[in-house]
Amino acid sequence: MVRIYNSLTKQLEEFKPLRENEVSMYVCGPTVYDSMHIGNSRPVVFFDTVVRFFKYLGYKVTYVSNFTDIDDKIIARAQETGLKEEEVSERYIKEINETYKRLNCLPHDYNPKVTESIPEIIAFISLLLEKGYAYEVEGDVYFDVLKIRDYGIISSQTVENLISGARIEENERKRNPVDFTLWKKTETGLNWPSPWGRGRPGWHTECVVMVDSLFKGKIDIHGGGTDLKFPHHDNEIAQAIAAYDHMIANFWIHNGRIDLSGEKMSKSLGNVIWADELLDQVSHQVYRLMMLNVPYRQPLNYKDELLNQAENDYEKIKRAYNGLFRKLEEAGEVEAETNAEIEAIREKFVTAMADDFNTANAITAIFKAVKLANVYTREKNPPYGKMKSLLQNFQDFLWILGIETGIKPLTEAEKDLIKRYREARKEKNYQLSDALREEIISRGLEL
Ligand SMILES: [Zn+2]
Repeated sequence: MVRIYNSLTKQLEEFKPLRENEVSMYVCGPTVYDSMHIGNSRPVVFFDTVVRFFKYLGYKVTYVSNFTDIDDKIIARAQETGLKEEEVSERYIKEINETYKRLNCLPHDYNPKVTESIPEIIAFISLLLEKGYAYEVEGDVYFDVLKIRDYGIISSQTVENLISGARIEENERKRNPVDFTLWKKTETGLNWPSPWGRGRPGWHTECVVMVDSLFKGKIDIHGGGTDLKFPHHDNEIAQAIAAYDHMIANFWIHNGRIDLSGEKMSKSLGNVIWADELLDQVSHQVYRLMMLNVPYRQPLNYKDELLNQAENDYEKIKRAYNGLFRKLEEAGEVEAETNAEIEAIREKFVTAMADDFNTANAITAIFKAVKLANVYTREKNPPYGKMKSLLQNFQDFLWILGIETGIKPLTEAEKDLIKRYREARKEKNYQLSDALREEIISRGLEL
């Protein structure tokens, strides 16, 4: 049983999929006007791990994440650089897709773009107008928030609070300051003809429309960073209630933000670490471990110590896993044979992941596997059957967290090289053994 903290109900709930053995999941993707910083990459790594865990449990997962390729920031970046908006967005979509790969993320099933969804978005806004949830003012279309009884359900805010809190910009054209833009009249930047004149859609509509056109109805999980709760997710839900009488997803999951020196990491504050820069310094395994060491709902306060710890952790994991792998390779064909100790480790790992994706506790379980692997490989008569069972489980754990070590079976030439090295050492021919050792290391093999 998987339990998930649901931002809709603010409690842990048992995950029951809409369709047996299937998971449909949508996570709000980036606005493509700049590179990804590590704060942006936290949902990317976390939700990839969620997908992997569901797949391990045998679910068929459909995972969608969009690219917002229309936005004021894209227009601004185009003006700054002299590029066309499409060139800006294409450049960053390409770059971000590469970063997804560098982070060892499984490919998404779909990456819809706003520019490819305009007819559906226009049809959706027309539906909201028809149903009386939206109104047009001289080419702009707004959503009438007061028509929704549960408005603010994700961020737990009421319309009254929002108005008195004055967090909303005044706009004389709106009936209510909390109303948000569905269609913006403009001829600046990319714009399209519509029943209300030329313009472009507001940000909050695209996800509602993409989810409905790809999944044809309600889905299991909608995810994103906690900073999207308001206004984005509250506005997504308001539109879905109006159009479809549901809240898009049964489960809404939000990951915590990343702070740097006690401040929220954000481009506007100028205190960011770029994902690609960090990936030039450390492997994806270390990167992911650093993130997954902190439970996803907590804010992650980035500091060097966290990265150092992840580096040490990964070194230990890799050594134990690869050692087990090589030892078994020497043994040849072996039948896996589990025991209570291995089962207990597997149980601990799966229970942690099923407990609202507690990756920090899952990593603790991995260290139990590390310990046992080290015991087994040092035994005089290695228990190969148990080692094989442990290796299979260990492999699954690493795959779920996306931190596989990448070790491969030795080729005949590599086996021969290691054999010659061992013989040279036995014969105390250190000159030869040193030379062979260097060659072994240069091929990326470990002894
Ligand atoms: Zn969204």
